[in-house]
Amino acid sequence: PAIDLREWLTQVVSQFQERAIAQSHPIDLKMGDRPLFVRAEEDLLRQALFNLLDNACQYSPPDTPISIRLYSKLRHAAIAVEDNGIGIPSEDLPHIFDRFYRVDLVRRPQHGSFGLGLSIVAQIVEVHGGTIGAASAGDRGTTFTLELPICAASPAKIH
Ligand code: ATP
Ligand code: MG
Repeated sequence: PAIDLREWLTQVVSQFQERAIAQSHPIDLKMGDRPLFVRAEEDLLRQALFNLLDNACQYSPPDTPISIRLYSKLRHAAIAVEDNGIGIPSEDLPHIFDRFYRVDLVRRPQHGSFGLGLSIVAQIVEVHGGTIGAASAGDRGTTFTLELPICAASPAKIH
């Protein structure tokens, strides 16, 4: 079904903020004021966003902000999740969407970490015909950008 990502994100972010892991990070949600429709299974897409937000919280120091931006890029809607955490070394970036891949096992929290979250995100994005990418500037944090095709059934812009 077609969903407006603005409404959907507002709802999903407030659901995430009720979780324990979210309590230690302020989340800043930025988006434009025009609806942005995509075709999506809401539950799957929520799982993907929650996995990205779990990571953003887990791999950044307490109280550092996480920003979520929604914007349009030609025929795609983009959701960028940016943290101010420990970052991902460039040599690891090509592998982080692989199943069971975890960076630098010594430094990372061991409990409850399987290296599966991002592989699930990648699969969910793929079934939606979208893409996911990651960029990191050393220890200045990481940005994950998820892109989904804008739905052709979007209501025409009112002039
Ligand atoms: P889980 O299955 O519980 O999600 P995980 O978090 O280790 O375990 P992924 O979410 O797939 O697994 O992430 C893979 C690895 O990528 C992580 O172990 C971590 O090293 C790195 N990583 C993921 N997101 C971030 C982030 N926002 N900042 C820094 N490192 C990250
Ligand atoms: Mg994870």
